[in-house]
Amino acid sequence: MAKYYIFITGGVVSSLGKGITTASLGAILEARNLKVTLMKLDPYINVDPGTMSPIQHGEVFVTEDGAETDLDLGHYERFLNSKMSRYNNLTTGKIYSDVLRNERNGFYLGATIQVIPHITNEIKKCIIRAGKGFDILLVEIGGTVGDIESLPFLESIRQMAIEIGKRKILYIHLTLVPYLYPSKEIKTKPTQHSVKELLSIGIQPDILICRSDRLVPKYERSKIALFCNVPEKAVFSLEDIDSIYRIPIFLNKQGLDNYICHRFCIKCPKADLSMWETVMHQKKNTIGTVIIGIIGKYTEFPDAYRSLIAALEHAGLKNRLIIDIKLINSQSLEFSDISTLKNLDAIIVPGGFGYRGIEGKIIAAKFSREKNIPYFGICLGMQIAIIEFARNVIGLMEANSTEFIKNCKYPVIAKISEWNYRKKSIFNTYKISTKMRLGNQKCYLKLGSLAYQIYNKSIILERHRHRYEVNNLFLNKIEKSGLIVSGWSHNKYKLVEIIEYPKHPWFIGSQFHPEFNSNPRDSHPLFISFIKAAHNYQNKKNF
Ligand code: GLN
Repeated sequence: MAKYYIFITGGVVSSLGKGITTASLGAILEARNLKVTLMKLDPYINVDPGTMSPIQHGEVFVTEDGAETDLDLGHYERFLNSKMSRYNNLTTGKIYSDVLRNERNGFYLGATIQVIPHITNEIKKCIIRAGKGFDILLVEIGGTVGDIESLPFLESIRQMAIEIGKRKILYIHLTLVPYLYPSKEIKTKPTQHSVKELLSIGIQPDILICRSDRLVPKYERSKIALFCNVPEKAVFSLEDIDSIYRIPIFLNKQGLDNYICHRFCIKCPKADLSMWETVMHQKKNTIGTVIIGIIGKYTEFPDAYRSLIAALEHAGLKNRLIIDIKLINSQSLEFSDISTLKNLDAIIVPGGFGYRGIEGKIIAAKFSREKNIPYFGICLGMQIAIIEFARNVIGLMEANSTEFIKNCKYPVIAKISEWNYRKKSIFNTYKISTKMRLGNQKCYLKLGSLAYQIYNKSIILERHRHRYEVNNLFLNKIEKSGLIVSGWSHNKYKLVEIIEYPKHPWFIGSQFHPEFNSNPRDSHPLFISFIKAAHNYQNKKNF
C-alpha cells in the first residue's frame, strides 16, 4: 500500500494530455526525493492492448516483465526513474476476467457477483498492489468523466477516500478551458459542467488543472474556483507549450507540488528540476537538423510510433541535433518512385505485423544498403533486412517470412517450430513454444562488433515483442555473404538478436525494441550512435 494516492481524471474532452501531465507531476514529486509510481486504468474491455490496432490505440508499450500495456506507460517511464510493470496498467477486461475466473473457481462462496462490491473490490485491490512500497501512487483514469465505461473505476476511487482516509487521497481533475476566437473569450462553463458530473458520482476534486491553448488568467481561475468549490490556489493553468519536457518546470513554477505536499503534510526537499532544465537547454542549443525516415504503415498515426519518435528525439538532444521525422508509408514505395528516400539522412524500418506494406520496406532496406545510408531495422525491420539480403545479395529470390507466405521456398524468418518443417525428425517440433517472446531478455554481444562498441559491454538486457525469428538454418549462407550476427540470445536455441553489415557505415537490425529503454536523461546508445551516423552521412553528402 502506498502512503498517499493521487487520482487524475479528465473532463470535457479526451486527448488533453492526461498521461503526460500525470507523468510530469510524477517527475516533480520524484525530484522532491519521494518514491513515486504511476498507474493507468483503462475502461475498455480488452484484457490488454496487445491485440488492438495501433490505429485505434497507438503503440503497445512493453514493460520489462513482458506486459503489453497502454502507451501512457511509455510516458511514465520516460519521465520517471521507476520502471513500470504489469501491475501498472489495468483494464476493465482484465478486472472482469479475473473476477469471472474467481467466480468459476467458487471463490465467492455462492454470492451473487455484482459491480459493487465485487468489481470495485477487485479494482481497489489492484490499485493497492500497484502502490506497495511507494510514498505516492498516481493513478490516471482513462477516458472522460461522464463515460459509462469508467464508472466502476470512479466508484472505486470514491470508496478509497472513505476506506483509506481523505487526508491520504487527492483528486485532480484535468479539464479543457477553451478560447472562443469569434468572441475572444475564455470559457469556464465546460469545466463547471465536468466538475458537476464528478460531484454527481460523489467525487469533489481537490485540484483543477486547466488545459488551454493559452495561460488561463487569474480572473477565470477565480471564477472556476468559486463555481467548482476548490480553493483559488488549487486551480492551475497548463497551456500548450513547445516541449512536453518543459511541463514539470511549468507546473512546479505554479506551485502544484508545494500545494500537494502541503495538503498531504509531507516534509521533503524542494524539487530539483535541474535535469529538466538541462533537457530544455540541450533542446535550444542545437547545431543542425537531420532528416530521419520511418518507413511504416501507420504513418498517419504518429502515436503508433510514440516510443520510437521519443527515442529519436532523445538521441537528438545528446547529439545537439533537431530530428526532422518523415513518416513514409511503405506501400507508397511499392507503387510510386522512391525519390522520397533520397532526401533522408537515415532510414528506420520499425516493428510491425502483417504483410501489408512489407515489399515497400524491403525496397527501403535495399536502398539503404546499396546507397550507404544509415539503416536501423527494429524487430520487423531487422527481419526485413534479412529477407532483402537473402534475396538480393545471396540470390534466394523467394526468401520470405512465414508470417507473410506460409510455405515460402526460403523461410529465412520463421517461428522456431517452423524452422525445420521439412525434416521434422531432427527437431521435436511440437514441443517448441511459439508464444510471443515478450519483455526483457539477455543478449550477448560479439566482441569487436559495432554493437559491442556502441554498448561498450558484452551482455545487455532489451525488451522483445515478436513471434518470428531469424531461421538459424540459413545463418551459414547469410554470414558467408557478409552480414554478421553481433548479438545472440541466452536461451537454448541461440537466437539472432542483432545483425550488422560491416561493409556499410551503419547498418544494424535488432530483434528487440531499444526504443522502450530510452528517456531524455539517458538516451539509448543505439539511437545516439544512429543519429551520429545520420549526421556523418549528411556531412559527407553535402561535402
Ligand atoms: N511480426 C514480427 C514478429 O512477430 C515482428 C514483430 C515486431 O516487429 N514487433 O516476429
